[in-house]
Amino acid sequence: MSSFAFCKNLTRNRTSLLNFTALKKGHRIMNKNPQRFTITAALPYTNGPIHIGHLAGVYVPADIYSRFLRMQGHDVAFVCGSDEHGVPITIKAKKEGVTPQDVVDKYNGIIKKSFEDFGVSFDNYSRTSGKTHHDTASAFFKKMYEDGKFIEETTKQLYDEEAGQFLADRFVTGTCPKCGNEEAYGDQCESCGTSLNATDLINPKSAITGAVPTLKETRHWFLPLDQYEDFLKEWILKGHKADWKSNVYGQVKSWIDDGLRARAVTRDLDWGIPVPVEGGDGKVLYVWFDAPIGYISSTKEWAEREGKDWEPYWKDENTKLVHFIGKDNIVFHCIIFPVMLKAHGEFILPENVPANEFLNLEGKKLSTSKNWAVWLHEYLEDFPDQQDVLRYVLTANAPETKDNDFTWKDFQARNNNELVAIFGNFINRVVVLTNKYYNGIVPEPGTYSEVDEKTVAELKAYPSVIASSIERYRFREAQGELMNLARLGNKYLADEEPWKLIKTDEERVKTIMYVALQIASALSIISEPFLPFTSAKLKKMLNHVDENSDNTPDWDIIGTKEALIPAGHQIGKAELLFSKIEDEQMEKQLEKLEATKTANAMKDQKAEPQKEIATFEDFTKMDLRVGTIIEAEKMPKTKKLMVLKVDTGIDKRTVVSGIAEHFKAEDIIGKKVTVLVNLAPRKLRGVESEGMILMTENAEGKLVFVNPDEDGVKSGTTIN
Ligand SMILES: [Zn+2]
Repeated sequence: MSSFAFCKNLTRNRTSLLNFTALKKGHRIMNKNPQRFTITAALPYTNGPIHIGHLAGVYVPADIYSRFLRMQGHDVAFVCGSDEHGVPITIKAKKEGVTPQDVVDKYNGIIKKSFEDFGVSFDNYSRTSGKTHHDTASAFFKKMYEDGKFIEETTKQLYDEEAGQFLADRFVTGTCPKCGNEEAYGDQCESCGTSLNATDLINPKSAITGAVPTLKETRHWFLPLDQYEDFLKEWILKGHKADWKSNVYGQVKSWIDDGLRARAVTRDLDWGIPVPVEGGDGKVLYVWFDAPIGYISSTKEWAEREGKDWEPYWKDENTKLVHFIGKDNIVFHCIIFPVMLKAHGEFILPENVPANEFLNLEGKKLSTSKNWAVWLHEYLEDFPDQQDVLRYVLTANAPETKDNDFTWKDFQARNNNELVAIFGNFINRVVVLTNKYYNGIVPEPGTYSEVDEKTVAELKAYPSVIASSIERYRFREAQGELMNLARLGNKYLADEEPWKLIKTDEERVKTIMYVALQIASALSIISEPFLPFTSAKLKKMLNHVDENSDNTPDWDIIGTKEALIPAGHQIGKAELLFSKIEDEQMEKQLEKLEATKTANAMKDQKAEPQKEIATFEDFTKMDLRVGTIIEAEKMPKTKKLMVLKVDTGIDKRTVVSGIAEHFKAEDIIGKKVTVLVNLAPRKLRGVESEGMILMTENAEGKLVFVNPDEDGVKSGTTIN
């Protein structure tokens, strides 16, 4: 706590870049000094690759938190794995004509690689189709069954007569009874987030055959959530009012206030973990029952590999369990899984569930099915070795309290104006000048000036300020402070101007460079949770190896160690940490998104219904000809109209056409078009139009000519 008190003093007598509001307002939550941490990140569902929304909402914050805790010397198990059961995977397999195992093998590989590529430092990444998990989930269910924690009920479930099978959760779509969304699933409405039973849906439809399902009797096991309302009220509504995020707390409260109902934890399905009790034939555990147990299985795998005991990580009161998830998973992690843990009886409950809101892309909701996303594997093809830039931008823009937007413009600006211009520029100056003046050897400092004293004091305060933000899951704020430390260094050099002083006061320059090197060194350490690749590169550049030989945790040495990088230490050569991102690169990304929009629009485009029947006589009344545009001019003071002179082969006449928003005059002169020549003339804005040019539009709504523009077709040719 000493550095904490120390930085409070600092705020009184200086103006600073450091943002102390967090500390001033803040109670630093130091709940019970846990002996160990179990950190889980939502199990990604293996029916597609992962995109920036997943990274921003769950994996980057969980990784920052875990890396930070390890750097503080804590005992951490950071676990995750692929969620490989459930109906969408079986639907996808059916569609692609492969087995569900093929689907999960493919995406597990892609997802796992993306996490490795982006430096997400899981201690273990497991799979729910693995044996450890099947055994663990099966035993979990069996214990609850034997302890009488389930209700067994024969109910009527939706059944698809055509497919000859029961329709569990995602096999049914229909209208949400709460918000009216017509594409709600049988387990959840993705529009309003309400968790549903398939029979709640209005106008249900089978997702397999499209048939209207019938009701058929089947026997299932239910978790009586209603019996746990008092427990949930006491534990969350009373116990976590102060420390849970308001978006999470609010959602949980509204569910509890609405009243909870029993939920089936088994399904009639053949893909999943078989129900391990009598009467369970042909049934599997509901994917939402088995998936969160995957955190436990993953911890077991890790412990076994490391020669540790897994149980304290899940059963000891001195363990702090934290679930990182997106807001669509709140009900499962704050109500269903805790009730399972409580009912089982041997497990601890999560201390916090810092769920994030959603990230949008260029103003529109990210969507896997609509391909509206920046896929991680594709990002790396376009921006090789720039993982930290994406991590940085996603954290700077993290949807911590409300939905947020990712735009390529912001991505470019944050890279060029912050990472390159501040962080990168400062490091480059320090390393280049140290090499130039001292052959890369850290100089011996003289007496500190007042500015030096102040700068070093400020530097030493940063770790506790950043820690305070991270401990309250405010990763955006924490990263903002990291950048402020780089700003401090940049400003110090700009103010002290060693490159000028070197001609007049060599001794003073030694002190300046020494102080600047301390800041660079602090940045190499403190940036690790946020920018792990940059941190490693910078440590290598500064030739930092094993700086904590006395076993002080890395995070703390900044505040406590006299010299982070001592005089006489040899550093390496300068390497660029970040590089400027050019406009062309951004245009390429925007074009990619435009292409997606067009493709989606074409998919969604529905043909208009056929008009009334026209007789052959009706048709032959129309005199359609090929014409050539010989003059074109936008009509003044109108947005849409263009005055064309058209050679119809019969004459040269004026046609007014509403195409000015889609074409430039010079681009259409000489173009062959289809003209209805015997349309009764009419005046448009005072100009008489004698005919009509036939147009249609493409998927994006742009007008295009109905095109007779082939070689050898002469003006005046009739169309019939
Ligand atoms: Zn709804």
